Amino acid sequence: MESRIHLVDKAGSVGSFSTSNPASGEPLGEYPVFSARQVADAVALARQAQLWWSQTPLVRRGAVLRRLAQLLIAERDALARVINAESGKPLLEAVLTDVMIAADAARFCAENAAAVLSPQPIPHDNPAMRFKRGELTFAPLGVIGIISPWNYPLSLPACQAVAALATGNAVVIKPSELTPQTVFELERLIAAALDAEGLTAQPRPFQVVTGMGATGQALIASGIDKLIFTGSVHTGRRVALHAAERLVPVILELGGKDAMVVLDDADVDVASSAAVWGSMMNAGQTCLSVERCYVHRKLYSAFVSQCRDKISRLQVGNGADPGTDVGPLISTKQLQIVASQVEEARTQGANILIGGGPIPELGPNFYAPTLITDVQPTTRLMREETFGPVLPVQPFESDEEAVHLANSGDFGLGASVWGKTSHASAVARRVRAGSVLVNDLISGFAVSAAPHGGLKKSGIGRTHGVLGMRELVAPIYLDVDQMPRMKKLWWYPYAGNAEPMGAFTELVHAPGLGRRLSAALRSLGLLRTRRW
Ligand code: NAD
Repeated sequence: MESRIHLVDKAGSVGSFSTSNPASGEPLGEYPVFSARQVADAVALARQAQLWWSQTPLVRRGAVLRRLAQLLIAERDALARVINAESGKPLLEAVLTDVMIAADAARFCAENAAAVLSPQPIPHDNPAMRFKRGELTFAPLGVIGIISPWNYPLSLPACQAVAALATGNAVVIKPSELTPQTVFELERLIAAALDAEGLTAQPRPFQVVTGMGATGQALIASGIDKLIFTGSVHTGRRVALHAAERLVPVILELGGKDAMVVLDDADVDVASSAAVWGSMMNAGQTCLSVERCYVHRKLYSAFVSQCRDKISRLQVGNGADPGTDVGPLISTKQLQIVASQVEEARTQGANILIGGGPIPELGPNFYAPTLITDVQPTTRLMREETFGPVLPVQPFESDEEAVHLANSGDFGLGASVWGKTSHASAVARRVRAGSVLVNDLISGFAVSAAPHGGLKKSGIGRTHGVLGMRELVAPIYLDVDQMPRMKKLWWYPYAGNAEPMGAFTELVHAPGLGRRLSAALRSLGLLRTRRW
Protein backbone atom coordinates (compact mmCIF):
# COMPACT_ATOMS: atom_id res chain seq x y z
CA MET A 1 0.00 0.00 0.00
CA GLU A 2 1.35 3.42 -0.89
CA SER A 3 0.20 6.89 -0.04
CA ARG A 4 -1.80 7.91 -3.06
CA ILE A 5 -3.66 10.85 -4.44
CA HIS A 6 -7.29 10.46 -3.51
CA LEU A 7 -9.60 10.90 -6.45
CA VAL A 8 -12.15 13.60 -5.83
CA ASP A 9 -15.74 12.57 -6.38
CA LYS A 10 -17.17 15.97 -7.25
CA ALA A 11 -20.75 14.74 -7.63
CA GLY A 12 -22.76 16.62 -5.03
CA SER A 13 -19.77 18.02 -3.18
CA VAL A 14 -19.38 21.73 -2.59
CA GLY A 15 -15.74 22.03 -3.60
CA SER A 16 -12.49 20.37 -2.77
CA PHE A 17 -9.42 20.82 -0.63
CA SER A 18 -5.88 19.55 -0.90
CA THR A 19 -3.35 18.21 1.56
CA SER A 20 0.41 18.60 1.62
CA ASN A 21 3.42 17.15 3.37
CA PRO A 22 4.25 19.47 6.30
CA ALA A 23 7.98 18.68 6.04
CA SER A 24 8.36 19.64 2.39
CA GLY A 25 5.16 21.35 1.32
CA GLU A 26 4.82 18.69 -1.43
CA PRO A 27 1.16 18.21 -2.49
CA LEU A 28 -0.40 14.92 -1.40
CA GLY A 29 -4.07 14.63 -2.34
CA GLU A 30 -7.31 16.35 -3.18
CA TYR A 31 -10.57 15.54 -1.39
CA PRO A 32 -14.19 16.58 -1.73
CA VAL A 33 -15.86 18.99 0.66
CA PHE A 34 -19.04 17.15 1.54
CA SER A 35 -22.24 19.17 1.34
CA ALA A 36 -24.76 19.01 4.20
CA ARG A 37 -26.84 16.78 1.95
CA GLN A 38 -23.98 14.34 1.41
CA VAL A 39 -23.27 14.26 5.13
CA ALA A 40 -26.94 13.47 5.82
CA ASP A 41 -26.76 10.69 3.20
CA ALA A 42 -23.68 9.20 4.89
CA VAL A 43 -25.47 9.25 8.24
CA ALA A 44 -28.53 7.59 6.65
CA LEU A 45 -26.28 4.85 5.25
CA ALA A 46 -24.67 4.36 8.65
CA ARG A 47 -28.11 4.14 10.26
CA GLN A 48 -29.15 1.46 7.77
CA ALA A 49 -25.92 -0.44 8.43
CA GLN A 50 -26.34 -0.16 12.17
CA LEU A 51 -29.47 -2.32 11.89
CA TRP A 52 -27.59 -5.37 10.59
CA TRP A 53 -24.41 -4.64 12.49
CA SER A 54 -26.16 -4.43 15.89
CA GLN A 55 -27.93 -7.73 15.12
CA THR A 56 -24.61 -9.41 14.28
CA PRO A 57 -23.65 -11.70 17.18
CA LEU A 58 -21.15 -10.20 19.57
CA VAL A 59 -18.57 -12.91 18.81
CA ARG A 60 -18.62 -12.05 15.12
CA ARG A 61 -18.31 -8.34 15.82
CA GLY A 62 -15.39 -9.19 18.09
CA ALA A 63 -13.82 -11.29 15.34
CA VAL A 64 -13.98 -8.31 12.94
CA LEU A 65 -12.20 -6.10 15.46
CA ARG A 66 -9.55 -8.71 16.19
CA ARG A 67 -9.02 -9.08 12.46
CA LEU A 68 -8.72 -5.31 12.17
CA ALA A 69 -6.00 -5.36 14.85
CA GLN A 70 -4.08 -7.97 12.87
CA LEU A 71 -4.40 -5.99 9.63
CA LEU A 72 -3.24 -2.80 11.33
CA ILE A 73 -0.14 -4.53 12.67
CA ALA A 74 0.56 -6.31 9.36
CA GLU A 75 0.38 -3.02 7.46
CA ARG A 76 2.06 -0.89 10.13
CA ASP A 77 4.99 0.32 8.03
CA ALA A 78 2.84 1.34 5.07
CA LEU A 79 0.36 3.04 7.41
CA ALA A 80 3.22 4.84 9.13
CA ARG A 81 4.32 6.22 5.76
CA VAL A 82 0.86 7.66 5.10
CA ILE A 83 0.70 9.11 8.64
CA ASN A 84 4.19 10.58 8.28
CA ALA A 85 3.40 12.11 4.89
CA GLU A 86 0.26 13.81 6.20
CA SER A 87 1.30 14.78 9.74
CA GLY A 88 5.09 14.98 9.55
CA LYS A 89 5.68 12.81 12.63
CA PRO A 90 8.63 10.37 12.67
CA LEU A 91 7.85 6.91 11.31
CA LEU A 92 8.67 5.23 14.62
CA GLU A 93 6.16 7.45 16.44
CA ALA A 94 3.54 6.73 13.78
CA VAL A 95 3.91 3.00 14.45
CA LEU A 96 3.99 3.28 18.25
CA THR A 97 1.50 6.05 18.94
CA ASP A 98 -0.92 5.58 16.09
CA VAL A 99 -0.89 2.05 14.67
CA MET A 100 -0.10 0.10 17.82
CA ILE A 101 -2.54 2.05 20.00
CA ALA A 102 -5.29 1.59 17.40
CA ALA A 103 -4.63 -2.17 17.20
CA ASP A 104 -4.56 -2.54 21.00
CA ALA A 105 -7.86 -0.67 21.30
CA ALA A 106 -9.50 -2.88 18.66
CA ARG A 107 -8.50 -6.00 20.60
CA PHE A 108 -9.48 -4.50 23.97
CA CYS A 109 -12.92 -3.52 22.71
CA ALA A 110 -13.44 -6.96 21.17
CA GLU A 111 -12.60 -8.56 24.52
CA ASN A 112 -14.66 -6.23 26.71
CA ALA A 113 -17.82 -5.51 24.72
CA ALA A 114 -19.66 -8.47 26.28
CA ALA A 115 -19.04 -7.16 29.80
CA VAL A 116 -20.19 -3.66 28.82
CA LEU A 117 -23.36 -4.93 27.16
CA SER A 118 -24.31 -7.56 29.77
CA PRO A 119 -27.50 -6.76 31.69
CA GLN A 120 -27.10 -5.98 35.40
CA PRO A 121 -29.75 -6.92 38.01
CA ILE A 122 -31.27 -3.97 39.87
CA PRO A 123 -32.27 -4.97 43.42
CA HIS A 124 -35.56 -3.71 44.83
CA ASP A 125 -35.24 -2.82 48.50
CA ASN A 126 -38.62 -1.21 49.15
CA PRO A 127 -41.25 -3.81 50.25
CA ALA A 128 -43.76 -2.25 47.84
CA MET A 129 -41.45 -3.14 44.95
CA ARG A 130 -40.50 -6.64 46.06
CA PHE A 131 -42.74 -8.32 43.49
CA LYS A 132 -40.84 -6.84 40.61
CA ARG A 133 -37.61 -7.85 38.91
CA GLY A 134 -35.42 -5.08 37.57
CA GLU A 135 -32.48 -5.15 35.27
CA LEU A 136 -30.36 -2.63 33.48
CA THR A 137 -29.80 -3.40 29.83
CA PHE A 138 -27.39 -1.61 27.56
CA ALA A 139 -28.30 -0.79 23.98
CA PRO A 140 -26.15 0.80 21.29
CA LEU A 141 -26.98 4.48 20.83
CA GLY A 142 -27.19 4.21 17.03
CA VAL A 143 -24.92 6.37 14.89
CA ILE A 144 -21.87 7.94 16.53
CA GLY A 145 -20.34 11.00 14.83
CA ILE A 146 -16.59 11.42 15.25
CA ILE A 147 -14.75 14.66 14.45
CA SER A 148 -10.98 14.29 14.64
CA PRO A 149 -7.83 16.41 14.69
CA TRP A 150 -4.60 15.81 12.75
CA ASN A 151 -2.07 15.13 15.50
CA TYR A 152 -2.93 11.44 16.01
CA PRO A 153 -4.75 10.93 12.72
CA LEU A 154 -5.11 7.16 13.14
CA SER A 155 -5.17 6.33 16.84
CA LEU A 156 -7.71 8.97 17.87
CA PRO A 157 -10.48 8.18 15.38
CA ALA A 158 -9.67 4.45 15.41
CA CYS A 159 -9.88 4.04 19.21
CA GLN A 160 -13.18 5.91 19.25
CA ALA A 161 -14.55 4.03 16.24
CA VAL A 162 -13.71 0.55 17.54
CA ALA A 163 -15.38 1.33 20.88
CA ALA A 164 -18.50 2.41 19.00
CA LEU A 165 -18.47 -0.58 16.64
CA ALA A 166 -17.83 -3.08 19.44
CA THR A 167 -20.93 -1.86 21.24
CA GLY A 168 -23.11 -2.22 18.14
CA ASN A 169 -23.10 1.35 16.88
CA ALA A 170 -22.31 2.61 13.40
CA VAL A 171 -19.84 5.42 12.89
CA VAL A 172 -19.50 8.47 10.66
CA ILE A 173 -16.09 10.11 10.83
CA LYS A 174 -15.03 13.54 9.72
CA PRO A 175 -11.23 13.47 9.77
CA SER A 176 -9.11 16.59 9.99
CA GLU A 177 -8.81 18.30 6.62
CA LEU A 178 -5.03 18.00 7.09
CA THR A 179 -4.94 14.19 7.43
CA PRO A 180 -7.92 12.58 5.64
CA GLN A 181 -5.98 9.84 3.83
CA THR A 182 -5.10 8.12 7.10
CA VAL A 183 -8.80 7.68 7.88
CA PHE A 184 -9.47 6.34 4.38
CA GLU A 185 -6.81 3.71 5.12
CA LEU A 186 -8.67 2.85 8.33
CA GLU A 187 -11.91 2.60 6.35
CA ARG A 188 -10.21 0.27 3.87
CA LEU A 189 -8.92 -1.99 6.67
CA ILE A 190 -12.31 -2.10 8.42
CA ALA A 191 -13.91 -3.12 5.11
CA ALA A 192 -11.22 -5.81 4.66
CA ALA A 193 -11.84 -7.10 8.20
CA LEU A 194 -15.61 -7.28 7.57
CA ASP A 195 -15.04 -9.12 4.28
CA ALA A 196 -12.58 -11.52 5.89
CA GLU A 197 -15.22 -12.44 8.48
CA GLY A 198 -17.84 -12.97 5.77
CA LEU A 199 -19.82 -9.83 6.65
CA THR A 200 -20.23 -8.44 3.17
CA ALA A 201 -23.60 -6.71 3.67
CA GLN A 202 -23.86 -3.15 2.41
CA PRO A 203 -23.87 -0.39 3.52
CA ARG A 204 -20.94 -0.58 5.93
CA PRO A 205 -21.25 0.63 9.53
CA PHE A 206 -18.24 2.93 8.99
CA GLN A 207 -18.62 6.00 6.79
CA VAL A 208 -16.22 8.86 6.13
CA VAL A 209 -17.15 12.44 5.25
CA THR A 210 -14.48 14.97 4.34
CA GLY A 211 -14.32 18.73 4.57
CA MET A 212 -13.61 21.50 7.02
CA GLY A 213 -15.58 23.09 9.88
CA ALA A 214 -18.82 23.38 7.90
CA THR A 215 -18.78 19.63 7.23
CA GLY A 216 -18.29 19.07 10.97
CA GLN A 217 -21.26 21.35 11.69
CA ALA A 218 -23.33 19.44 9.14
CA LEU A 219 -22.45 16.18 10.89
CA ILE A 220 -23.67 17.56 14.22
CA ALA A 221 -26.93 18.64 12.57
CA SER A 222 -27.43 15.36 10.71
CA GLY A 223 -29.35 13.44 13.37
CA ILE A 224 -26.42 11.51 14.88
CA ASP A 225 -27.06 10.00 18.29
CA LYS A 226 -23.84 11.16 19.93
CA LEU A 227 -20.74 13.09 18.93
CA ILE A 228 -17.16 12.47 19.95
CA PHE A 229 -15.22 15.63 19.20
CA THR A 230 -11.46 15.85 19.61
CA GLY A 231 -9.81 19.19 18.95
CA SER A 232 -9.09 22.62 20.35
CA VAL A 233 -10.99 24.36 23.15
CA HIS A 234 -11.92 27.11 20.70
CA THR A 235 -13.62 24.71 18.26
CA GLY A 236 -14.93 22.53 21.08
CA ARG A 237 -16.93 25.45 22.45
CA ARG A 238 -18.54 26.07 19.04
CA VAL A 239 -19.24 22.37 18.65
CA ALA A 240 -20.85 22.20 22.11
CA LEU A 241 -23.11 25.16 21.31
CA HIS A 242 -24.18 23.71 17.99
CA ALA A 243 -24.82 20.31 19.59
CA ALA A 244 -26.74 21.89 22.49
CA GLU A 245 -29.21 23.50 20.09
CA ARG A 246 -30.03 20.04 18.78
CA LEU A 247 -29.65 18.23 22.13
CA VAL A 248 -26.97 16.01 20.65
CA PRO A 249 -24.95 14.52 23.53
CA VAL A 250 -21.22 15.14 23.22
CA ILE A 251 -17.89 13.89 24.44
CA LEU A 252 -15.31 16.65 24.14
CA GLU A 253 -11.60 15.74 24.15
CA LEU A 254 -9.95 19.16 24.13
CA GLY A 255 -6.61 20.81 24.71
CA GLY A 256 -4.16 20.55 27.55
CA LYS A 257 -1.38 22.38 29.35
CA ASP A 258 0.07 19.42 31.18
CA ALA A 259 2.30 19.98 34.16
CA MET A 260 5.32 17.83 35.01
CA VAL A 261 6.34 18.02 38.67
CA VAL A 262 9.87 16.92 39.57
CA LEU A 263 10.13 16.44 43.36
CA ASP A 264 13.31 16.78 45.42
CA ASP A 265 13.87 12.99 45.50
CA ALA A 266 13.49 12.42 41.74
CA ASP A 267 16.20 10.87 39.58
CA VAL A 268 17.43 13.87 37.58
CA ASP A 269 18.77 11.82 34.69
CA VAL A 270 15.49 9.91 34.21
CA ALA A 271 13.26 12.95 34.78
CA SER A 272 15.21 15.16 32.36
CA SER A 273 15.03 12.47 29.64
CA ALA A 274 11.29 12.24 30.29
CA ALA A 275 10.85 16.01 30.11
CA VAL A 276 12.68 16.21 26.78
CA TRP A 277 10.74 13.32 25.24
CA GLY A 278 7.44 14.46 26.77
CA SER A 279 7.76 17.98 25.36
CA MET A 280 9.35 17.21 21.98
CA MET A 281 7.60 13.99 20.92
CA ASN A 282 5.45 14.66 17.83
CA ALA A 283 7.17 18.08 17.84
CA GLY A 284 5.24 18.88 21.03
CA GLN A 285 1.91 18.49 19.24
CA THR A 286 0.37 16.00 21.65
CA CYS A 287 -2.61 16.89 23.79
CA LEU A 288 -0.69 15.29 26.70
CA SER A 289 2.65 17.01 25.94
CA VAL A 290 4.63 18.42 28.84
CA GLU A 291 3.83 22.12 28.51
CA ARG A 292 4.94 23.29 31.98
CA CYS A 293 7.76 21.71 33.94
CA TYR A 294 8.12 22.50 37.66
CA VAL A 295 11.33 21.32 39.33
CA HIS A 296 12.35 21.41 42.99
CA ARG A 297 14.93 24.13 43.58
CA LYS A 298 17.43 21.51 44.89
CA LEU A 299 17.53 19.75 41.50
CA TYR A 300 16.77 22.71 39.28
CA SER A 301 20.18 23.62 37.86
CA ALA A 302 21.27 19.99 37.30
CA PHE A 303 17.91 19.27 35.68
CA VAL A 304 18.05 22.29 33.36
CA SER A 305 21.61 21.53 32.31
CA GLN A 306 20.76 17.89 31.51
CA CYS A 307 17.69 18.96 29.52
CA ARG A 308 19.83 21.41 27.56
CA ASP A 309 22.39 18.72 26.78
CA LYS A 310 19.72 16.19 25.71
CA ILE A 311 17.84 18.72 23.57
CA SER A 312 21.09 19.66 21.81
CA ARG A 313 21.43 16.02 20.74
CA LEU A 314 17.98 15.77 19.09
CA GLN A 315 17.94 15.20 15.35
CA VAL A 316 15.46 17.56 13.74
CA GLY A 317 14.39 16.77 10.19
CA ASN A 318 12.00 14.98 7.91
CA GLY A 319 10.18 12.30 9.93
CA ALA A 320 10.52 9.92 6.98
CA ASP A 321 14.24 9.68 7.79
CA PRO A 322 14.63 6.91 10.38
CA GLY A 323 17.24 8.96 12.27
CA THR A 324 14.86 11.86 12.93
CA ASP A 325 13.74 12.53 16.50
CA VAL A 326 11.71 15.69 15.90
CA GLY A 327 9.79 16.45 12.71
CA PRO A 328 8.09 19.62 11.48
CA LEU A 329 5.07 21.34 12.92
CA ILE A 330 1.85 20.61 11.08
CA SER A 331 1.52 24.02 9.42
CA THR A 332 2.92 27.51 9.12
CA LYS A 333 -0.06 28.72 11.16
CA GLN A 334 0.97 26.42 14.03
CA LEU A 335 4.60 27.58 13.68
CA GLN A 336 3.45 31.19 14.06
CA ILE A 337 1.48 30.37 17.24
CA VAL A 338 4.54 28.71 18.80
CA ALA A 339 6.92 31.49 17.67
CA SER A 340 4.66 34.25 18.96
CA GLN A 341 4.27 32.61 22.41
CA VAL A 342 8.05 32.20 22.72
CA GLU A 343 8.65 35.77 21.53
CA GLU A 344 6.18 37.16 24.04
CA ALA A 345 7.91 35.22 26.85
CA ARG A 346 11.31 36.44 25.65
CA THR A 347 10.25 40.09 25.65
CA GLN A 348 8.96 39.63 29.20
CA GLY A 349 12.35 38.46 30.46
CA ALA A 350 12.44 34.71 29.74
CA ASN A 351 15.78 33.05 29.07
CA ILE A 352 16.06 30.86 26.00
CA LEU A 353 18.78 28.32 26.72
CA ILE A 354 18.58 26.51 23.38
CA GLY A 355 16.43 26.81 20.25
CA GLY A 356 13.92 29.63 20.21
CA GLY A 357 13.13 30.06 16.53
CA PRO A 358 12.16 28.48 13.21
CA ILE A 359 14.65 26.50 11.07
CA PRO A 360 13.67 27.59 7.52
CA GLU A 361 16.60 25.79 5.94
CA LEU A 362 14.93 22.46 6.81
CA GLY A 363 11.51 23.35 5.41
CA PRO A 364 8.58 25.69 5.92
CA ASN A 365 7.34 24.35 9.28
CA PHE A 366 10.38 23.43 11.36
CA TYR A 367 10.86 24.97 14.80
CA ALA A 368 13.98 24.35 16.86
CA PRO A 369 13.49 22.32 20.06
CA THR A 370 13.51 25.00 22.73
CA LEU A 371 14.39 25.11 26.43
CA ILE A 372 13.19 28.22 28.20
CA THR A 373 13.42 29.39 31.82
CA ASP A 374 12.35 32.42 33.89
CA VAL A 375 9.03 32.61 32.08
CA GLN A 376 6.46 34.90 33.66
CA PRO A 377 3.47 32.77 34.82
CA THR A 378 1.10 35.27 33.20
CA THR A 379 2.49 34.80 29.66
CA ARG A 380 0.57 32.82 27.06
CA LEU A 381 3.43 30.29 27.07
CA MET A 382 2.45 29.29 30.62
CA ARG A 383 -1.32 29.65 30.26
CA GLU A 384 -2.37 28.65 26.73
CA GLU A 385 -1.70 25.46 24.84
CA THR A 386 1.55 25.92 22.89
CA PHE A 387 1.57 22.72 20.82
CA GLY A 388 5.21 23.00 19.82
CA PRO A 389 8.66 21.67 20.79
CA VAL A 390 9.09 24.03 23.73
CA LEU A 391 10.00 23.08 27.31
CA PRO A 392 9.49 25.84 29.90
CA VAL A 393 11.08 24.97 33.27
CA GLN A 394 10.37 26.75 36.54
CA PRO A 395 11.68 26.02 40.07
CA PHE A 396 9.55 25.50 43.21
CA GLU A 397 10.39 25.34 46.91
CA SER A 398 7.87 22.90 48.45
CA ASP A 399 5.40 20.14 47.57
CA GLU A 400 2.62 22.52 48.52
CA GLU A 401 3.79 25.06 45.96
CA ALA A 402 4.26 22.34 43.32
CA VAL A 403 0.66 21.13 43.76
CA HIS A 404 -0.59 24.71 43.60
CA LEU A 405 1.36 25.37 40.37
CA ALA A 406 0.28 22.09 38.75
CA ASN A 407 -3.37 22.83 39.54
CA SER A 408 -3.26 26.42 38.31
CA GLY A 409 -4.74 27.39 34.96
CA ASP A 410 -7.74 26.46 32.89
CA PHE A 411 -6.74 22.96 31.78
CA GLY A 412 -6.77 19.54 33.39
CA LEU A 413 -6.00 16.88 30.81
CA GLY A 414 -2.90 15.11 32.12
CA ALA A 415 -0.02 15.60 34.55
CA SER A 416 2.97 13.70 35.85
CA VAL A 417 4.84 13.61 39.17
CA TRP A 418 8.42 12.36 39.54
CA GLY A 419 10.17 11.22 42.70
CA LYS A 420 10.36 8.31 45.17
CA THR A 421 7.27 6.19 44.55
CA SER A 422 5.40 6.79 47.81
CA HIS A 423 6.23 10.50 47.92
CA ALA A 424 5.35 11.08 44.24
CA SER A 425 2.16 9.03 44.54
CA ALA A 426 1.02 11.09 47.53
CA VAL A 427 1.62 14.33 45.63
CA ALA A 428 -0.02 12.87 42.48
CA ARG A 429 -3.24 12.26 44.41
CA ARG A 430 -3.50 16.01 44.99
CA VAL A 431 -3.12 16.93 41.31
CA ARG A 432 -6.37 17.63 39.45
CA ALA A 433 -6.24 16.20 35.92
CA GLY A 434 -7.96 13.45 33.94
CA SER A 435 -4.86 11.27 34.20
CA VAL A 436 -1.91 11.69 36.55
CA LEU A 437 1.13 9.50 35.97
CA VAL A 438 3.84 8.80 38.54
CA ASN A 439 7.35 8.44 37.12
CA ASP A 440 6.03 8.28 33.57
CA LEU A 441 4.16 10.53 31.17
CA ILE A 442 1.84 10.38 28.17
CA SER A 443 1.95 6.56 28.09
CA GLY A 444 -1.39 6.24 29.92
CA PHE A 445 -2.93 6.93 26.52
CA ALA A 446 -1.44 3.66 25.28
CA VAL A 447 -3.14 1.62 28.03
CA SER A 448 -6.31 0.46 26.27
CA ALA A 449 -8.10 -0.19 29.55
CA ALA A 450 -7.40 3.28 30.94
CA PRO A 451 -10.02 5.98 30.33
CA HIS A 452 -8.89 9.16 28.60
CA GLY A 453 -10.38 12.61 29.11
CA GLY A 454 -9.98 15.88 30.89
CA LEU A 455 -11.12 18.08 33.73
CA LYS A 456 -11.85 21.81 33.50
CA LYS A 457 -11.55 23.17 29.95
CA SER A 458 -9.81 19.99 28.76
CA GLY A 459 -13.12 18.36 28.09
CA ILE A 460 -16.28 16.50 28.98
CA GLY A 461 -16.70 12.74 29.19
CA ARG A 462 -14.29 9.91 28.57
CA THR A 463 -13.05 7.80 25.68
CA HIS A 464 -10.99 4.57 25.91
CA GLY A 465 -11.39 1.68 28.30
CA VAL A 466 -14.65 0.35 29.63
CA LEU A 467 -15.73 3.85 30.72
CA GLY A 468 -15.31 5.05 27.13
CA MET A 469 -17.43 2.17 25.83
CA ARG A 470 -20.13 2.86 28.42
CA GLU A 471 -20.44 6.38 27.00
CA LEU A 472 -21.64 4.82 23.74
CA VAL A 473 -24.52 2.74 25.09
CA ALA A 474 -27.92 3.75 26.41
CA PRO A 475 -28.64 2.29 29.86
CA ILE A 476 -32.25 1.08 29.72
CA TYR A 477 -33.99 -0.01 32.91
CA LEU A 478 -36.25 -3.00 32.35
CA ASP A 479 -38.78 -3.70 35.09
CA VAL A 480 -40.94 -6.83 35.09
CA ASP A 481 -43.76 -7.12 37.62
CA GLN A 482 -44.17 -10.66 38.91
CA MET A 483 -47.81 -10.12 40.06
CA PRO A 484 -49.50 -9.02 36.83
CA ARG A 485 -53.03 -9.59 38.23
CA MET A 486 -52.59 -7.36 41.25
CA LYS A 487 -53.52 -3.65 41.26
CA LYS A 488 -50.90 -1.52 42.97
CA LEU A 489 -51.52 -0.23 46.49
CA TRP A 490 -50.76 3.36 45.51
CA TRP A 491 -53.35 3.58 42.71
CA TYR A 492 -56.75 5.32 42.96
CA PRO A 493 -58.85 5.85 44.98
CA TYR A 494 -56.95 7.92 47.58
CA ALA A 495 -59.93 8.36 49.95
CA GLY A 496 -59.25 6.60 53.26
CA ASN A 497 -55.68 5.68 52.28
CA ALA A 498 -53.73 8.67 53.59
CA GLU A 499 -53.18 7.25 57.09
CA PRO A 500 -52.20 3.66 56.10
CA MET A 501 -50.03 4.99 53.25
CA GLY A 502 -48.28 7.32 55.73
CA ALA A 503 -47.67 4.27 57.95
CA PHE A 504 -46.35 2.37 54.93
CA THR A 505 -43.80 5.10 54.19
CA GLU A 506 -42.55 4.73 57.79
CA LEU A 507 -42.13 0.99 57.35
CA VAL A 508 -38.67 1.07 55.87
CA HIS A 509 -37.23 4.09 57.60
CA ALA A 510 -38.69 3.95 61.15
CA PRO A 511 -35.88 3.54 63.72
CA GLY A 512 -36.11 0.27 65.69
CA LEU A 513 -38.02 -2.97 65.16
CA GLY A 514 -40.96 -1.96 67.42
CA ARG A 515 -41.69 1.21 65.42
CA ARG A 516 -41.45 -0.71 62.17
CA LEU A 517 -43.85 -3.42 63.34
CA SER A 518 -46.33 -0.79 64.44
CA ALA A 519 -46.02 0.91 61.05
CA ALA A 520 -46.58 -2.44 59.30
CA LEU A 521 -49.80 -3.07 61.27
CA ARG A 522 -51.15 0.42 60.59
CA SER A 523 -50.40 0.08 56.90
CA LEU A 524 -52.54 -3.05 56.57
CA GLY A 525 -55.49 -0.72 55.93
CA LEU A 526 -54.15 -0.37 52.40
CA LEU A 527 -55.18 -3.95 51.67
CA ARG A 528 -58.83 -3.25 52.58
CA THR A 529 -59.35 -0.61 49.88
CA ARG A 530 -60.94 -1.88 46.70
CA ARG A 531 -58.92 -0.33 43.84
CA TRP A 532 -60.63 0.93 40.73
P1 NAD B 1 -9.39 21.94 15.65
O1 NAD B 1 -10.27 22.24 16.80
O2 NAD B 1 -8.91 23.06 14.82
O3 NAD B 1 -10.09 20.91 14.65
C1 NAD B 1 -10.53 19.64 15.08
C2 NAD B 1 -11.57 19.13 14.08
O4 NAD B 1 -12.73 19.95 14.16
C3 NAD B 1 -11.13 19.15 12.63
O5 NAD B 1 -11.60 17.98 12.01
C4 NAD B 1 -11.85 20.37 12.07
O6 NAD B 1 -12.11 20.32 10.69
C5 NAD B 1 -13.14 20.32 12.85
N1 NAD B 1 -13.84 21.61 12.96
C6 NAD B 1 -13.34 22.86 12.84
N2 NAD B 1 -14.31 23.78 13.04
C7 NAD B 1 -15.44 23.09 13.31
C8 NAD B 1 -16.77 23.47 13.62
N3 NAD B 1 -17.13 24.76 13.71
N4 NAD B 1 -17.69 22.50 13.85
C9 NAD B 1 -17.34 21.20 13.80
N5 NAD B 1 -16.09 20.78 13.50
C10 NAD B 1 -15.14 21.71 13.26
O7 NAD B 1 -8.15 21.13 16.27
P2 NAD B 1 -6.85 20.62 15.54
O8 NAD B 1 -5.95 21.79 15.29
O9 NAD B 1 -7.21 19.73 14.42
O10 NAD B 1 -6.21 19.70 16.69
C11 NAD B 1 -5.40 20.18 17.71
C12 NAD B 1 -6.17 20.32 19.01
O11 NAD B 1 -6.76 19.07 19.37
C13 NAD B 1 -5.29 20.69 20.17
O12 NAD B 1 -5.93 21.67 20.95
C14 NAD B 1 -5.15 19.40 20.95
O13 NAD B 1 -4.87 19.56 22.32
C15 NAD B 1 -6.50 18.80 20.74
N6 NAD B 1 -6.43 17.36 20.98
C16 NAD B 1 -7.04 16.86 22.08
C17 NAD B 1 -6.94 15.51 22.35
C18 NAD B 1 -7.59 14.92 23.56
O14 NAD B 1 -7.73 13.70 23.60
N7 NAD B 1 -8.01 15.68 24.55
C19 NAD B 1 -6.25 14.68 21.49
C20 NAD B 1 -5.63 15.24 20.37
C21 NAD B 1 -5.74 16.57 20.12
